[in-house]
Amino acid sequence: MNAILEINGLKKQFGGLTALSGVDLSIEEGEILGIVGPNGSGKTTLFNVITGVHKPTEGRVSWRGRDITSLAAHEISGAGIGYTFQQAMAFPGLSVWENVQIACEHAHRSDRSYPWTTPAALLDFVGITALAKERAGVLPFGSLRLLGIALALATRPSLILLDEPAAGLNDKETATLVGLVRQFPAHGISVCVIDHDMKLMQMLCKRLIVLDFGSKIADGPTQAVLADPKVLEVYLGG
Ligand code: ADP
Repeated sequence: MNAILEINGLKKQFGGLTALSGVDLSIEEGEILGIVGPNGSGKTTLFNVITGVHKPTEGRVSWRGRDITSLAAHEISGAGIGYTFQQAMAFPGLSVWENVQIACEHAHRSDRSYPWTTPAALLDFVGITALAKERAGVLPFGSLRLLGIALALATRPSLILLDEPAAGLNDKETATLVGLVRQFPAHGISVCVIDHDMKLMQMLCKRLIVLDFGSKIADGPTQAVLADPKVLEVYLGG
């Protein structure tokens, strides 16, 4: 396997609080990797360091062999690392179509095989073509999340970080989302997903990493990790 993202010795302190303490991990080309852990275990901080929102106190983030630790957030996104927020980052006053069109103008990969290069293709893929003319600000919650996925795909990332993508979605919407995300690897997009929902993680991820108090305590095939006594203790014993 080829690692597209590699993290070594990542440490992040906020004043006296250690949010990440020496985390090593890699994301392989074409995989869907899950990251779980109790509240406050450092998951969001990890995403914020990868995307350049926070600089680490120590350690290194490499993207396709290149050190990106000190790059600005827009440079990291320009290198092909996309991100979806729990709240879709759409312009509420613009239409769904206009939002996607603007995102398409920020695409930074030009391979001809990429299937979602136009607003029409993106809206069709996520299933919200009927809402193209609506203002983003009036979309129901589930559709707004799908718009967030379309916006992330429009920039043609090679890795997408999904932070609790199913939070607030009903079962049907969650199934739709799972069906979409599972198609990403075939189009050259690796995925790293944070979520509390173990059912979702089992549907999506072959490999899971568990964080606890800022340290990685497990990393391996999903079923093996979920049966690991250290992991059960974190979730059940406490
Ligand atoms: P998770 O996403 O696993 O719930 P976080 O990464 O959000 O965990 O938080 C890890 C720890 O870092 C928590 O104790 C949290 O309070 C702290 N933390 C996160 N972001 C900041 C920040 N910007 N300033 C200070 N402390 C923070």
